[in-house]
Parts: sequence; structure tokens; C-alpha cells
Amino acid sequence: MVKKIARILIISVFAISLLGFSQPPMPPKSGEIVRVAIARGKPSVMLVIKGPFSIYSLGTNELLSEYKGLGNSAVTPTNFGIQIGPYIYLKVFGIKIMPKRDAAIYIDKRRFRGQVDIIRQQDKTLLVVNHIDVENYIRGVLYHEVSHKWPLEAIKAQAVAARTYALYQKKGSEKNDYDLTNDIYSQVYGGQTSEKYRTNKAVSQTLGEYLTYNAEIFPTYFHANCAGHTEDAAKLWNIDLPPLKGKPCDFCAKSPHSKWKINLRLADIQVKLIKSGREIGLIKEIHVLERNNSGRVDKLEIIDRRGSKIYISGKDFRMVVGPNIIKSTNFNVIMRGYYVDFEGKGWGHGVGLCQWGAKSMSECGFKYDEILKYYYPGSEITK
Ligand SMILES: [Zn+2]
Repeated sequence: MVKKIARILIISVFAISLLGFSQPPMPPKSGEIVRVAIARGKPSVMLVIKGPFSIYSLGTNELLSEYKGLGNSAVTPTNFGIQIGPYIYLKVFGIKIMPKRDAAIYIDKRRFRGQVDIIRQQDKTLLVVNHIDVENYIRGVLYHEVSHKWPLEAIKAQAVAARTYALYQKKGSEKNDYDLTNDIYSQVYGGQTSEKYRTNKAVSQTLGEYLTYNAEIFPTYFHANCAGHTEDAAKLWNIDLPPLKGKPCDFCAKSPHSKWKINLRLADIQVKLIKSGREIGLIKEIHVLERNNSGRVDKLEIIDRRGSKIYISGKDFRMVVGPNIIKSTNFNVIMRGYYVDFEGKGWGHGVGLCQWGAKSMSECGFKYDEILKYYYPGSEITK
């Protein structure tokens, strides 16, 4: 009986939706579009659409239905496709939601501009991808990277770096379902909900500008605070490029995060090392064996109470313990029995633009293009 009702519902939704809608409206084509994964591996998402919208099949681009709006509805994967709320059953594994006349799409209470795809993955979870003009994408990113109260020239420098980074990521991901994620592994993206007046102003004042080196776009990494010297990208990711070689920075020493200290239990570090696949007993000693010329730790030696040793890079150690616990790889180690102190400088991987340095440069009167050329030496602004 339930199955029969479901079948009738599927048929009726299709029949109603296809009546009188033969010409699907064209998706917007202005500017450079990036695809941002705004939810991954989710059993369901909450969807609200304030205003009219159309739903297309992602594979065939066929119009499935049109609606005047949608109240708070759970989107869930089904055996046959995707279900929206209690009544809309779609027998396709990927849908494209196109808002009309500036209708607002909310996914899990965050507002997104542009097209939203919902894909039912093979493991019966949902992948949600926002297709958005790169300018609008940057508008949703900046607030998460820098304070909107910072000097405008510093925000503009960040806007150009963030735009360049997004366009660079897009270049290598044509075959993937998306170009960027919305977390710290790409750039944190909060959609239209994260837009602020001054960050939007920085985007419009640098419209379409990105950085190149030798006429080629490159990954414009950035971080919070370098604490005196930016890092060579070659030390972290095998990227050997003059604008990312690292250089002294005299601008961030007095800012927040220039110094940090944390006391950790050796047993907790041991558990994390074991979880990462390394074999180590109760830790007795942690030694810095090598530092690179920016002062950051290249290699650590960790000795347990039976005398066994492991070696680990500073970068891997930071990731294993937690990048927001060990805020940078520029640290000293002080053993304290069953505990250890890490006293460090700076926050982040240290490559490329130093955000607190950029803020301080703009307070000294430097313009955004001068800030970018300082942190990415040899680069050019291209439009
Ligand atoms: Zn700095």
C-alpha cells in the first residue's frame, strides 16, 4: 500500500511538473564559475528556497519540475534517487536546482547564491555543490579569512590572493565533481550569509584581478602570521616557484599569534602518533633534529621509554597533533616529565601572504598591489 502511494506520488509530481514547461531557462553564464562542495558525505541536508526555482536532472539537463518556493524540507537519498520533503520523489541520482529571479537557496540554514547541485553518492550519502561566479565565491570567503574591520588595502590583497587560489584550484579539477571544498583544506566558504559590506567592497575594487608569475597562474597560499620569515613552499608541497620561496617579514612581530605556548600530555601525543600509523611506546624525549633557514622544524626525533625511536617531519607532527594545537612548525620543545611544553611563533604553514603582516603593511600606508608584490615576489597582477 505504502509503495503504491509512493508510486502515485512520483507519477503525479512528474506529471504536474512537466505540464506547460517545455523551455528550461538557461543557467547564468556571466564570469568564471567555480564549483564548491558545501556538504559532503551527509545522510541528509535541510533545504529552504524562498522564491521560484526549477529542478533539472544533472545528467540529461531535463527539466523535472518547477515550484514557487519550498518550505523547510529534508533532502534524503532513496533507493531510486532523491527525496525532498514528504512529497517530492525524484528518480534521478543528481539534481540541479536553479533559482529564478534572485530566489534564495538555504542549505542547512546558510544562504547560497547561484546554482546548487545535490548528488546521491554510491554510499547513499549526499554531496551538495554550489556553482557560483568566482566574484561571489570570494565574497563568501573573505569574512572567514580576515576581519571585515581591517584596513581596506589588506582586505583587497586577501581578495586577490583568494581569487587566484580559487582559479588555480579550478584549473586542475575539471574531471572532479567540484573544484573546492568549503573547509580549511581549500578556503572556508560561508555563502551569502558570510558577506559583509567592507569585504564585498574589497572584492568589487579588485574585480577580476588575479596573480601570475611568468604569465602563469600559481597557488597563492596564505596564512595568519609568519612570525618573521615566510616559508618556502618547496619545504611543504614540492612546489618550487620564485614567488613562494619565502622571505623575511618585518610586519607581523607585534600582532596576535606571533607567540604561542602549549603544555601537552606525552600519553596524548603517543595516542595520536599511533593513530597515524606510527609505532611508539610511552614517550620519553622529543628532540628537534633539523630546522630549515626560516627557523621552522624540519625533522623531529621521538624516543620512547624502551629506547625505540621514530623520525617525523615538523609538518607531519603538526598535522598529527592538530594544526590548531601546534599552531606552526616554528617551535622549541621543553620536556617536563610526563608532559611537554611547545613554545612557538606564528600561526599557519607560513607560505605566501602573511595576513597579519599585510594588515600591518596597510597601516603603514602600503597599497594592496605593493603588499602582494612583497609577499609574492616577482608576481604580476593580471586582469
Ligand atoms: Zn609575517
